[in-house]
Amino acid sequence: MAEHVVIIGSGPAGWASAIYTARATLHPLVIEGALTEENRMQGTLPLGQLALTTEVENYPGFPVANLGQYLDNAIDKERRQYMADHRGHGVSGPELMELMRQQALNFGTRILTDDVVKVDFSKHPFQLTTLEGKVIEALAVIVATGARANYLGLPSEDRFKNQGVSACAVCDGALPRFRNKPVVVIGGGDSAMEEAGYLTKFASKVYLVHRRDKFRASKIMADRALANPKIEPKWNSVVDEVLGNDKTGVTGVRIRHVDDPSRVEELEATGYFCAIGHTPNTDFLGGQLTLNEKGYILWTTPQRTYTNVEGVFAAGDVADDYYRQAITAAGSGCMAALDAERWLAAKGFE
Ligand code: NAP
Repeated sequence: MAEHVVIIGSGPAGWASAIYTARATLHPLVIEGALTEENRMQGTLPLGQLALTTEVENYPGFPVANLGQYLDNAIDKERRQYMADHRGHGVSGPELMELMRQQALNFGTRILTDDVVKVDFSKHPFQLTTLEGKVIEALAVIVATGARANYLGLPSEDRFKNQGVSACAVCDGALPRFRNKPVVVIGGGDSAMEEAGYLTKFASKVYLVHRRDKFRASKIMADRALANPKIEPKWNSVVDEVLGNDKTGVTGVRIRHVDDPSRVEELEATGYFCAIGHTPNTDFLGGQLTLNEKGYILWTTPQRTYTNVEGVFAAGDVADDYYRQAITAAGSGCMAALDAERWLAAKGFE
């Protein structure tokens, strides 16, 4: 029998959709993602990008750090300790995601730990095929698969992932290998400024390598980075190679001047942080949903989560190249749930 609503993705948009559709007695199924090495490497494990952050200070409802009892009981000891170690004045990203997941479960959401690898939206009920070979039919689908950080695509980046190469300073910046050592950040946008600033808490120096002579970042964030004595910009420079060895991981980064390719410089560093934007997770859609010019799912009606396929809705970062916040993702997850509920009712699928 076809599912009423299947939600693909397990970030704030996915869980908000699940909480709302579960409370509307639509018995949602969340396909939260698979625990594969590939997903780990590209940052697309279950619970989304927030699970890769530490403190979340801007999510309404978490002003103080007193969520203890539930978290102590519900989460395995080692993971709980990691969360506790990274707690500040709010809730941590991983905690927030565990809490959302639990809240969805409380109202009867069912969860499948698997990836959707193929969809068929040409027939109804829609058909979803998973990595483990399950074929799931759904009357309505909410796509909430989020986005992932980009890398330059150098073989040397792949080689040293988890050995000094990262796309998430807040996840990895506090690791011992970066303490009081120089590190390199790539990019010129707000993310690069933010990552560089964050890393100055731990690193002895942060090289900010940018391919132009002007940052794309907002003036306030660019000015703050440039005023930081620990940050040294490397203008008009691109990365040739991440240097290192199997034993110690990253030991440096070779950069090249864009105007004079013979000008090569080796920066000594134990870390390489790529901050050059994000890619929405849409490959599995096989071109069946209309995307915008940046590759994000297009909402076909303003202020509605409708896609070009009736009965398929999109929420969160996969459909948002602009706001990209936990709260906006959760908000659009709620919108998608209400849109799906109303669509199902209008079609008589109650
Ligand atoms: P972004 O604004 O698109 O910036 C990406 C940066 O990476 C650009 O400087 C770009 O260079 C560089 N880049 C892209 N591809 C590259 C390549 N192949 N080689 C070398 N450099 C490359 O992305 P973002 O910084 O992730 O920000 C995305 C959005 O989130 C923005 O709207 C931003 O304002 C927002 N955001 C806000 C905050 C905040 O307010 N706290 C924090 C983070 C992000 P060019 O400049 O030459 O194109």
